[in-house]
Amino acid sequence: MSKKYVELLEILCCPFCKSDLEFIEKYLFNQETEDELLKKIKGQEISGYKCSKCNLLFPIIEEIPVFLEDKVIRLNQ
Ligand SMILES: [Zn+2]
Repeated sequence: MSKKYVELLEILCCPFCKSDLEFIEKYLFNQETEDELLKKIKGQEISGYKCSKCNLLFPIIEEIPVFLEDKVIRLNQ
């Protein structure tokens, strides 16, 4: 199931800084959001692609990797 997402890592990069991405599984998304799409995954463990440099997570929502600027998850660290 997640194998296809890992394979995509070879061709994907961060749209903002062009760095390589890391595949993340079971990230608990629990941030307040006004975004209708992100509301669907609130309180759920999701997978996605992380850019360590930007500290952003590009979520996979309903099996689709989302790389839209307004759907990106800012990781607090
Ligand atoms: Zn980046």
